[in-house]
Parts: sequence; C-alpha cells; structure tokens
Amino acid sequence: MDNNQNMAKESEIFESRKMKLNLLKAFRDATARKPKIEGVECPACGAKTDDAELQNSMYICEHCGHYFPMPADKRLQSIYDDGEHELLFADIEAKNPIGFPGYKVKLGELKAKTGLDDACVCAKGKIGGHRAVAVVFDTRFLMGSMGTAVGEKVTRAAEYAAEAKLPLIVFASSGGARMQEGIFSLMQMAKTSAAVKRHSDNGGLFISVLSHPTTGGVTASFASLGDIILAEPKALIGFAGPRVIEQTIGEKLPDGFQLSEFQLEHGFADAVIERKQLRETLAQLLKLHRKGGARR
Ligand SMILES: [Zn+2]
Repeated sequence: MDNNQNMAKESEIFESRKMKLNLLKAFRDATARKPKIEGVECPACGAKTDDAELQNSMYICEHCGHYFPMPADKRLQSIYDDGEHELLFADIEAKNPIGFPGYKVKLGELKAKTGLDDACVCAKGKIGGHRAVAVVFDTRFLMGSMGTAVGEKVTRAAEYAAEAKLPLIVFASSGGARMQEGIFSLMQMAKTSAAVKRHSDNGGLFISVLSHPTTGGVTASFASLGDIILAEPKALIGFAGPRVIEQTIGEKLPDGFQLSEFQLEHGFADAVIERKQLRETLAQLLKLHRKGGARR
C-alpha cells in the first residue's frame, strides 16, 4: 500500500467514525428532546390525564367523574380559606418499634418520594372564616395506614382542638392499622378514640370525612366517632373488605356493598358530599356549630 492509499484508507475510517459519532449525537438529542410522558390513567374509564390536570379538577376524572386519591397538601389547600393554613406536629415521624425488616428503608424511600413524614398531616386554619384543626390522611404513604406516628398526630390534633376549643375535622383514607408496627399500631385505635372522646367531653365538635378507602383499624376507631360523618361519593368504607367478607360467609354481597351511598342508606354516614362541595359544606357546619365548638 503506498502513501496515497494509506491516506485514503485513514480518511475512510475517519469519515466512518465521524458518521457514527454524528448518529450517536443525533440519537442523544432526539431522546433528550423527547417529552416525558407522565400520564395518569383513570382506573374507571381509562382516559389519560396528567398531574396538572388532576390538580385543576380536584383529582376527579373529567371524563367519568372517578375520584382519585387526593394528596394531603392539596386537600388542605382546597379546604382552608385561600388555601392558607399552618402545619401542626410536623416533627412527629415514624420509628420502627418492633424492628420490622426493611421498614426503615421503606419509610425513608416514601419520605423522599412523597415529601410526607408519615401517612397524615395536621394543620389549623380557617374554613369560611371559622377556625378549625384538620388531620388529612394520604394514601401515597403506605396506604394511609395508622402506626404510632399517625396515631400520635391524630391524638395531638384532638388534644390541641380540645385545648383551643376548636372543631376537629379528620379526612380519613386508610388501609387500616400498619402491620409493620404490630401491636403498637393496634394500640393507636384506643388512643385516638380516647382522644376524640375527651375532645367531645370538652364540648368540641368532631367532623369525620371519609374518602376512598376508609377501612380496618381507622374505621374501627376515630373515623367512625365523628359527631357528623360525611363521605365522598363511592368511597369504600368498612372494616374488612368485601372480598374477605364474601370468602368468610360464602355468600354474594349486594351491589354497592360498603360504598358511601350504601353506608348513608344504612345510617352509618350522615351525608354523601361531592368533593367540590366539601369546603362549602364544612363552612356551613362550622357556622351552625360555632357556639359549641368554634370560639372565633
Ligand atoms: Zn375516568
């Protein structure tokens, strides 16, 4: 091979590498420019939506009216006047009381992912001009299950409300007691029930708002003890789920069993309220009860 041939060969190799590099660059650019598809699919009708749209519609599917779970911070913003509220007991976070394997790591991951310290958030603010303490559950955190931290927050919120003579509103949505905390989680049922009873003995108003799903140890404790129990439409409200009951009793359950409308018909809930009407309903209830509960 003479010099010219060598040069031609080198040039060919160079061109081929350059082409490969260009292709690689084009591929990288294309993938970098590709918009991220972060769709949320409605489990009821299959329509695609995104988080911004859901926020605007209060987490209700605009196509079929299906209720998505509402993040705690969005719920607080939607309930309090101008969304303004002050968080309470934010320093209480879950421990690992029985040394459950992998629990600590899971808690850390969930805290990072959701920005929550545990499955409920407490706050105070005004609803329709009436001061009220609220506890909001968030199913993104271990299905809104109640462990020691959640039980402590509900208890402190009830005690705070009793002390300040303010009404207490709990927005429950929970899978029940938190199995990773064993007996300590079951203890929270008695503790929270006692706390709302003390609030009641003190003349305080307690409104329980049940959203999908409210089950297990949360239904079997404070969530069922509201002076007034409101439910969002079509929320599953019960202790054991319908599948477990069907398997246990070996019978087919009636249509709509344990849904809000069923619970209203059977006297467990006082009213089924659309999410978009909740703020107004609560404001009205607080106004009607202000002498007994809200001081200001
Ligand atoms: Zn839908």
